[in-house]
Amino acid sequence: MFRIFSRIFSNIGIDLGTANTIVYVAEKGFVVNEPSVIAYKSKGNVLAIGKEAKEMFGKTHKGITVIRPLADGVIADFVAGEEMIRSFIRLAEIPRFFLNDIVIGVPTGVTSVEKRAVIESAESAGARRVYLVTEPMAAAIGVGINVLGSNACMIVDIGGGTTDIAVINFGGIVVDNTIRVAGDEMNEAIIRYVKNKYNLRIGETSAEKLKMDFGMVGDGPELEFQLKGLDAQTGLPHQIDVTSELFKEALKDVLNTIINSILTTLDKLPPELASDVIDRGIILTGGGSLLKGLDSYLREIVNLPVSRPGNALYCVAEGTRKILENFEMFKPVLFT
Ligand code: ADP
Ligand code: MG
Repeated sequence: MFRIFSRIFSNIGIDLGTANTIVYVAEKGFVVNEPSVIAYKSKGNVLAIGKEAKEMFGKTHKGITVIRPLADGVIADFVAGEEMIRSFIRLAEIPRFFLNDIVIGVPTGVTSVEKRAVIESAESAGARRVYLVTEPMAAAIGVGINVLGSNACMIVDIGGGTTDIAVINFGGIVVDNTIRVAGDEMNEAIIRYVKNKYNLRIGETSAEKLKMDFGMVGDGPELEFQLKGLDAQTGLPHQIDVTSELFKEALKDVLNTIINSILTTLDKLPPELASDVIDRGIILTGGGSLLKGLDSYLREIVNLPVSRPGNALYCVAEGTRKILENFEMFKPVLFT
């Protein structure tokens, strides 16, 4: 009897990222992977969410507002945030009555007001019980690290709005550090560099696409590609042949900021934990860590082992899946 019920009711896990939201549904898999963006036609009137809403950025007329409710890793716009969470749960297509437990990954520095907003949105979407887990903890679980054990590990999650650095052991976060420099800032650095060096204006979407397709900061053969934009002086379309060497220059400051905060965090560690981190190294997660060559670039500068799991973009969501599957074991890492 119980087995039948447990199949009818669905447990879900949500990685509520600043850039992307991923929804995992037990026994179905990752059913939603969409930008954390919502578009309104008028007050309270949702026009689109996810990819569709993101495409409207900078292209719409005055009547339409496009919002990223989770700027900088916190819920900057509560009403839009709640609406977005509800919409994504709806996208997972689970009838309201059959929704059971929801585990949601939230930023480490989440305030009690933000916690309430996340929990209430999930409850208003029909969740019976809502549990929260910090994103680096979920990421570490997703990577397959024994977070409940005594060996400390360091997670560096480079997302859209923030980079979260956390040292974890015994099911808790010992030291953490969040900076508002991550993937979005990389896009902006590319835009600035291209403008200063080539007098060419490119948009945010193009900068992000170039970063994903050609971005490389490690050693290896350079890729050649064309920069297409508008000449900053004449305003006319213009294109220039460049190589991926460009990213090493353009992203130098952003990467330095990330590296400095890793070093500061290491500095704050008690010696026993530092030695664990030195042995196990740094684990990179999040979409921003997919920048080609970033692992070797970091390894060279911080002089520690650096690894990047194959599922970097899905680590937090994968963590929520493992938590739901081993609920009793992972209870100590959850909070409400
Ligand atoms: P969040 O957890 O904040 O939602 P994600 O972990 O989804 O963020 O990462 C989003 C960031 O990852 C974006 O800034 C995006 O540009 C960047 N990103 C995604 N894929 C790649 C890639 N292949 N190379 C470089 N950056 C990438
Ligand atoms: Mg994330």
